[in-house]
Amino acid sequence: MDHDSLADRRAVIRVPAGHDAFADATTDAAAAGDETATADEDVTVARVGPTGIGALDPLVTATADGETAFYADPGVDLTSEVAADLADGTVGATGDPLTVVDHDPDAATLPVPEDTALGVGLRRLLRGAGWHRPTDPGDHAAAGGFADAGLEDVVTAADGLVGRGWGDWCHDEDVSPTLDRARDAFGDVAVVVNAHGTAADALLAESVPFSVLEGADLLATALDAERVVLYLSEADETARERIETAAERYSDPETAFEVVAGPAVHRAAEPTMALEAIEGNHRLEARLRRPGELPVLDGAPALVHTARTVAHLGARVRDKLAGLTPAGRMDTRIVTVTGDVASPATVELAGTERLDAALEAVSVTGEFKAACVGGRFGGLTDSLAVTPTPFGLTHDDLGTEGVVEIVSDERCLVEFVGRRAQRAADTNCGRCVPCREGATQLTELLRDVYDGDYHRERIEELLRVMDGSSVCAFGVEAARPARTAMDVFESEFEAHADGRCPASVCFEPVEVPQ
Ligand code: SF4
Repeated sequence: MDHDSLADRRAVIRVPAGHDAFADATTDAAAAGDETATADEDVTVARVGPTGIGALDPLVTATADGETAFYADPGVDLTSEVAADLADGTVGATGDPLTVVDHDPDAATLPVPEDTALGVGLRRLLRGAGWHRPTDPGDHAAAGGFADAGLEDVVTAADGLVGRGWGDWCHDEDVSPTLDRARDAFGDVAVVVNAHGTAADALLAESVPFSVLEGADLLATALDAERVVLYLSEADETARERIETAAERYSDPETAFEVVAGPAVHRAAEPTMALEAIEGNHRLEARLRRPGELPVLDGAPALVHTARTVAHLGARVRDKLAGLTPAGRMDTRIVTVTGDVASPATVELAGTERLDAALEAVSVTGEFKAACVGGRFGGLTDSLAVTPTPFGLTHDDLGTEGVVEIVSDERCLVEFVGRRAQRAADTNCGRCVPCREGATQLTELLRDVYDGDYHRERIEELLRVMDGSSVCAFGVEAARPARTAMDVFESEFEAHADGRCPASVCFEPVEVPQ
């Protein structure tokens, strides 16, 4: 494929897509709606996707001759001045850039400024985020994308790849056996990319959609698939639009991509409910899963993987074609830090790093008290000294969803888990008793704590039933916040049973008689 790429341009100013004022400030032509327009004969204005680091948004970068200046939220006037300087061949002389980085003049991926939040972890799947035009295939191609791979390359690359996120049919498990079963299946096969509801998957779809599409296309090629469906939440409008446009511009895919939006509710990301939503069923209920069986979409066997998983597959294929052995290959985990932070951040950590490394990308508001690791129904912990791998996280009874929600000392953990239980009671699909009734009873038992009735054994017994008997991962995981909070922060439950809230959140102050 022959594509136009920013890596070939002399000088480029990158402004965030969706912030038209920035692009307008640098060139009138950009206002016409093109993704790329010429501000000056030699300066290209490119609208790029987010980097994942909220504190730097909107980020503007100015690049020429192997130098890039980074400006965090520079404002429209300064952006205009930066563009004018760039036209004169100057980088970083205007305003007060966050940093200026020297790099290869033909850099096809983001030159990472190590001294900023962008330098946290390593950027493998996110290497084009903030650098590539999301819907222009040229930048992905220049970075080695659109690998010319065969079936054997895909099968080898999939070996040992672990499914990322609860929306993946192979959550925390090797994807290869499922791929083998799909290859052996009779009839038409479908590939479903589940990018519903998780910040990391939405970021990939919004910022580097070609990475996701390429991974899906590689799977489709390996399976000779009849359908490839990209499934996102109705709430992630930008991600949906970007991946839809990128899909239209994808050159010669094995199968045309379909984009489907599902309801913006947490449970709609569960793989079998995702299939229900894609089939157009309005009442989303989980399907039973039998060991060794493939999921089914409109009667056809399907693979259901998250955007993270398929993007990893693409990266592994590229590594293989580059001659990197599995030992030299670096699998990563994408982690979003949110909660009591000034701005959320999504970073990519090596499997050998600890989760607390991700905290360097955010500013915690208040004192760190706890973190809920693993998404809405993650585990509560007072320490992030754990690797972000399934082994490390499940050993500590934490979730592997790639979300770390910070809880500051101004929040109450009994209230926190009570609200999560209430959420589970309000939003489960209602199909099975352990989850439906269990979440309601859990909410009541946690309310009883406020009345002085804290019965840990009773709560634990209920959580065991939810964990062991729920039909889908929703009910299994809904048990985790309360279980881990009682393990690590039991004194808070005991204090509430005594009528005290250590965070001074739950009880009205008692007036002391004079
Ligand atoms: S575990 Fe909850 S969400 Fe899953 S099938 Fe049962 S009731 Fe529905």
